[in-house]
Amino acid sequence: MSDSGTDEKIRCDACPVMCYIADGKSGACDRYANHAGALVRLDPLTIIESTDGAMVPFFGSGMSDGWDGDIIKGARPFITAVGAGTTYPDYKPAPFIVSQEVDGVDMVTVVTEGIFSYCGVKVKIDTDRHIGHERDVVSVDGEPIGHVMTSEYGSKMLSLGGVEHLTGGSKKEGRVTCDALLRLCNREAVEMIVGEGDHATTLIVEAGKAPVINGTPERLMRVGCGSATIGMFAKQWLDHADDVVIVDDHITGVLSEHEAGKQLDVPPTGIKILGRRSTPGRYFQVAEPGTGWGGTNIDDPLKILGPFKPKVAWPGLRLLMISTTGEQFAYYELDADLVPQPAPMPAPLQASTEIIAENCEPSVCSVLFMGGAGGSLRAGVTENPVRLTRSVKDSLTHVSCGGAQAYVWPGGGITVMVDVLDMPTMSFGYVPTPALVAPVEFTLRVSDYSALGGHVSHIRPVQDVATEDLRKVGPNARAHNPMAHGNYRWSKGDA
Ligand code: SF4
Repeated sequence: MSDSGTDEKIRCDACPVMCYIADGKSGACDRYANHAGALVRLDPLTIIESTDGAMVPFFGSGMSDGWDGDIIKGARPFITAVGAGTTYPDYKPAPFIVSQEVDGVDMVTVVTEGIFSYCGVKVKIDTDRHIGHERDVVSVDGEPIGHVMTSEYGSKMLSLGGVEHLTGGSKKEGRVTCDALLRLCNREAVEMIVGEGDHATTLIVEAGKAPVINGTPERLMRVGCGSATIGMFAKQWLDHADDVVIVDDHITGVLSEHEAGKQLDVPPTGIKILGRRSTPGRYFQVAEPGTGWGGTNIDDPLKILGPFKPKVAWPGLRLLMISTTGEQFAYYELDADLVPQPAPMPAPLQASTEIIAENCEPSVCSVLFMGGAGGSLRAGVTENPVRLTRSVKDSLTHVSCGGAQAYVWPGGGITVMVDVLDMPTMSFGYVPTPALVAPVEFTLRVSDYSALGGHVSHIRPVQDVATEDLRKVGPNARAHNPMAHGNYRWSKGDA
């Protein structure tokens, strides 16, 4: 028998797992527990104060210091779904349906912790270094959890999770995928392997931090591709170098052949680049992808040069070679046989490489949660779910995740994407089905809520929420306000 005097297990009905939980114990997801026969959500409901300040880090300690429980104190709070709990099955009204007046308009926010089987993360990694080929599999603990997708400008991209990995593979694949997503979304570091065999790369990803690639922390994001770098800095090299090569795995730039060089009257140098010429002064495939100069596999830039043309080049020709981050550079002068020989770098060229490096932004990992909120959780908002979808499309309902602005994809459904760094810390949970638990809030006018068949009889005034065990955080640095009238079509005079 437990301390509370009962050995009765209670059944949690917040997700399909339906745990039986003994007194003093928590369920399989560690979100719910049996406290003397009462089912309790272990993390407190999180509200965002509408005062200045950054998000307060939270590690499960409950209310923040100095909090006196007065959520109305001169500021308008926003009730997030973090810690709100989940209703299951979904026809039950969402855990919190909260109203308050905002600048003369009665607004309501419907909050729930959605259980997402259809979800994943998109990861943007600011680096030139080769982390894997497009479509390479990304693995954690030997299980596939996603793949490399199309690179963006200066960044490698991963698509991780999704219903195929959560439900379509082995039990272990689903569990490992869910755990990796959870840790990434809660801003923890996750080590993963990209590719396999002789082109496997070890990668550590943590939201807001530099990636660690094969044990080396990345420092800088490229200033631009090789061609763009020529375009930006061409004038700085005039009079100090006869030719400049920006080594880039994608588009290597050559000053003397590039349009920038032509317009600045840089004469031909007879340089020969070993790559596929695209347009003048722009070359593809000068080497293999790798972790060397400009995302290539080379550490000696001369490997991308063929012999200089003897009829054009001249002894003493000055050649500068730089990577796309300015971190690697070398200066040469041609000897009597027109072979580049290392030489001391003139001071103006040294300064130029420093300017390139200065123009590079710090390399960071960005983790964006993406999930489908257009399914059954809509029933917790309204008895007629498609009306919620239409209301979102009509800009009458605003969707946020933990108070952070969610991008709603066009087309059908309510497919949302949100930067986890805009959300309160520890916003995400999981259930062992497996699926991720993520906060979702729908905010709209009370009149619109009534019109779409919302659970209006369950609306509570925001003052009532003050009785809950609350965690209080400040607005995020981007100061998005889900209740701002500007989010809604009616604010533009369109009812
Ligand atoms: S996994 Fe969590 S939410 Fe689901 S039934 Fe168990 S305790 Fe409740």
